[in-house]
Amino acid sequence: MFQKILIANRGEIALRVLRACKELGIQTVVVHSTADSDAMHVRLADESVCIGPPPSRESYLNIHQIVAACEITGADAVHPGYGFLSENAKFADILAAHNITFIGPSGDHIRIMGDKIEAKRTAKRLGIPVVPGSDGAITEEKEAKRVAAEIGYPVIIKAAAGGGGRGMKVARTEADLEVALQTARSEAGAAFGDDAVYIEKFLGKPRHIELQVFGDGAGRGVHFGERDCSLQRRHQKVWEEANSPALNAEERARIGGICAKAIADLGYSGAGTIEFLYQDGEFYFIEMNTRLQVEHPVTEAITGIDLVHEQIRVASGGGLSVRQEDIKFNGHAIECRINAEDPRTFTPSPGTITHFHTPGGLGIRVDSGVYSGYRIPPYYDSLIGKLIVHGRNRVECMMRLRRALDEFVVDGIKTTLPLFRDLVGNPDIANGDYDIHWLEKYLAKED
Ligand code: ADP
Repeated sequence: MFQKILIANRGEIALRVLRACKELGIQTVVVHSTADSDAMHVRLADESVCIGPPPSRESYLNIHQIVAACEITGADAVHPGYGFLSENAKFADILAAHNITFIGPSGDHIRIMGDKIEAKRTAKRLGIPVVPGSDGAITEEKEAKRVAAEIGYPVIIKAAAGGGGRGMKVARTEADLEVALQTARSEAGAAFGDDAVYIEKFLGKPRHIELQVFGDGAGRGVHFGERDCSLQRRHQKVWEEANSPALNAEERARIGGICAKAIADLGYSGAGTIEFLYQDGEFYFIEMNTRLQVEHPVTEAITGIDLVHEQIRVASGGGLSVRQEDIKFNGHAIECRINAEDPRTFTPSPGTITHFHTPGGLGIRVDSGVYSGYRIPPYYDSLIGKLIVHGRNRVECMMRLRRALDEFVVDGIKTTLPLFRDLVGNPDIANGDYDIHWLEKYLAKED
């Protein structure tokens, strides 16, 4: 087991990982920017190292400084959290070259999944169902027309290097195709420095369903069921649940089995998430994330398994603590992402939190790094906390969520709490009847 883990992140996830390390009796080091000297994870860590000024480029993304912090403190492993360097293959390789363990998969696996064309090709080879489309990058309009005619309109053109929902264009008919192809390529080139694009069938009313998987790096793979993250705004997840209201146990076991086998065959190590669009009973792979996800607590709630403990075990060579047959899905869990944003316009609302009171009671978990008197710096993303609620079934979970949202107090800044108070009373949400466009349509109507 590791002696000392360095946490290369901030906010709620840094605290989340820190808690897991403490439970396992592992010493902790955190790195932070000058804007985060007062952060909770810095206060609670055994050691902390200031690695630079507020901009992420100069601190949380500064590989040299982070490696230097490992050397100075004698950390033998790094947990990258999510975002920042968590899917940076070069970072994983550099740590390996310094004999420091990256708590995550190999640089090569990160690289494959970071290129969406390569990821899709790999998924297909491993027997994962993919969205029908081009086999690789498309450069010629003629070829685009041929593929689009074959799969049928509408089609979507996506950037190979894409991320965060950027660089995507829909073509409804052949007449739209030329412009869509050109704009997608120039946007991809400008945003990612790589103008490779590919085509796939555009799905009209899908849900976003993702499978939590784990590999032990020695040929074993398991799945921890799915999360439904269909409630999104601008391709950003807002509310996540496990299990999905749309799947039954048989479907879960079938797609879970396919994913677990793929992970085993790939020789993958650590946590991963295989993301699908799901429509008319079919799954279509869109991408794989090679890290812990923001929404992992809903999976923890229904399985009772600490996924960060598992990540640390696997990275230290101790293997997974569970076999597939040990993983049971109990009840239902929902996570609300609480952002420091105006609940109507979603513009960021940094500032000082004058009062912070979190709900409690059975089945309630709040993951947050903020506290009364904490000043939210304007440099980073606006997530200030996650409310995760567990119940014996979805109805009980929703009742408890409504109560917990009423108890939650964040004064001094604007937050997205009022949005969740609206959503929890909505009949479509109560019925689990929504797709990936539901929230945008709902917000447009409310305006
Ligand atoms: P990114 O890496 O930029 O997040 P994804 O491939 O994960 O890109 O897709 C992001 C979102 O774009 C999906 O959650 C979905 O809303 C939409 N999308 C992607 N592919 C398709 C498709 N083939 N049909 C319909 N919507 C799609």
